[in-house]
Parts: sequence; C-alpha cells; structure tokens
Amino acid sequence: MKVVAPLDELRQICSELPDPLGLVPTMGFLHEGHLSLVRAAKSASASVGVSIFVNPTQFAPSEDLGAYPSDLERDLAMLEAEGVDVVWTPTAEEVYPVGFQTWVSVEELARPLEGSMRPEHFRGVTTVVAKLFLAFKPQSAYFGQKDAQQALVIKRMVHDLNFPLEVVVCPIVREPDGLAMSSRNTYLNPEQRKAALVLSRSLKAAESAFTDGERQAEALRQVVDDVLESEPLARVQYVSLADPDTLQESSGPIERCLVSMAVYVGKTRLIDNTILGAL
Ligand code: AMP
Repeated sequence: MKVVAPLDELRQICSELPDPLGLVPTMGFLHEGHLSLVRAAKSASASVGVSIFVNPTQFAPSEDLGAYPSDLERDLAMLEAEGVDVVWTPTAEEVYPVGFQTWVSVEELARPLEGSMRPEHFRGVTTVVAKLFLAFKPQSAYFGQKDAQQALVIKRMVHDLNFPLEVVVCPIVREPDGLAMSSRNTYLNPEQRKAALVLSRSLKAAESAFTDGERQAEALRQVVDDVLESEPLARVQYVSLADPDTLQESSGPIERCLVSMAVYVGKTRLIDNTILGAL
C-alpha cells in the first residue's frame, strides 16, 4: 500500500494502477462504516484508493475542526489489512494553496437540512470531492448513507459536471445497540453514549409506525419527536421528513420519505437517518 501526500506523486501512482479504480473519501479516524465502503470498492474494482483529509473548508469556525479525532497509524494499518492500494494524506496547503479561490457549489439540494444549519458546509464538501475526483480519476466513488444529503449533493454534482464516474451509496453501519458509527462518537462520555441511542430509537419508532400503516408525515414526525423528547440529554437541532430525492419537506400522506435528524448530546452533534418506503 502506497501512502503519499504530494498531489503529483498520487497522480503518478494512480496512473499506474489497474482500472477500474474505486475511491473512498474519508476524514480518517476510521471505523467499520468506512471499512464497509472500502470493502464495497474492493469487491467491484481492480484498485482501491482512499483519501484521509480533514477538510477545513467544510467546518464553520465554531465547529470541531481543531478537535477532530485522528490516528493515522491505526487508520493506515486498517486500510493495509483491507488490501487498499493507495492512500492520499494531503496537507491543507496541498489542497488549498495560497490564493485558492475556486469553489464548486450545488445549489438547491445543499440548502435544507444540514445546509440550513451549516451554510458553508456543502460548498466545502463538493469542492474537496471534486478535487479528489480530479486527483484519483476513479471509475467509481463510495459514500455512506449515514450522510444522506451529502450523497445526494455529490450525485447531483457528478451528474451536472459530467464527472465520468459512478457514485455508489452504501448502507449505514451501526453499533450492535443501534448507534450509527461515527468518528465523533468518541467525544461521548458513557452517560452520553447511552443517551445517544435515542436517535436510532426514534428512527425505529418511525419505521414501526410506517410498517403498521401510518402514512401521514405529521403523525410520523410526532412519533420521532416524542421519542427524542424522552431523552433529557438530547437537544434536537432538526427533525425532517422529506422526499428522498429532492429533500422537499413532506406533508400529508407519503409513500416514501427520508427521516433525518441532527441532535446534540452534550457538545457532540450527531446525525442519523432512515428511509421509509421502498428504496
Ligand atoms: P467521514 O470520515 O465522516 O467524512 O466519512 C467518510 C465516508 O464514510 C462518508 O461517505 C460517510 O458517509 C461514510 N460513513 C461514515 N459513517 C458511516 C457509517 N456509520 N456507515 C456507513 N458509512 C459511513
């Protein structure tokens, strides 16, 4: 496995790897969620590339950029064990040299949900992912449903800018008790870790209500709200029931919807989601 920081070295290595190349972009501090993407890439590709880069432009000044967990040695050992071919670990200066002023922005899809709470976030994501696509030139790129809006925004960018690659979205990997895996879970103390289960519990409650025949968006939202309100350590930032393709907020009877949320447990901001109805 080759591990490189300079862009020109990465390009050289990628040009010598057999096609098709599958790319897995990450911010490191890897867990089974990331590895599920690596395995999906591996099963469908001749070569696998991974990026580890905590992208400063997708964090607001008030967010946790400085505190974001990292353990590069451990990450590299995990990726080596998965048979990854190349890992790019660029510096911020490599990705954003002095004078940088070019951005890629997806408009409507990036506005609601995460975009409404983190206004610059998706501009940072789409810009860095566009740069990753140009650097690795993958035939496919793997993203997690954990970041449902991110996956939609990236698919939109790939379509609109005609990037010649396929975006593959992989299911959310959860801890045995239901908590969606996230690098940020490491911020939780034991009491908060227990409280954090309220997110997946609220989604399960919505799934059960839907299975039992409830189709009214307002009633389903109430089911989620009621569970979230039962946890005193949880502070809800948003709960959304929206069209899974357009992210337009749902009302009245629904056939399918993306239930998504952002909830603070202590200072840790957690997100989770599920799709109700046919995938
Ligand atoms: P991150 O390192 O948090 O930027 O995540 C890198 C990629 O891994 C993104 O495409 C995420 O959606 C995906 N990912 C993160 N957590 C999970 C999870 N629990 N299950 C599946 N994919 C995940």
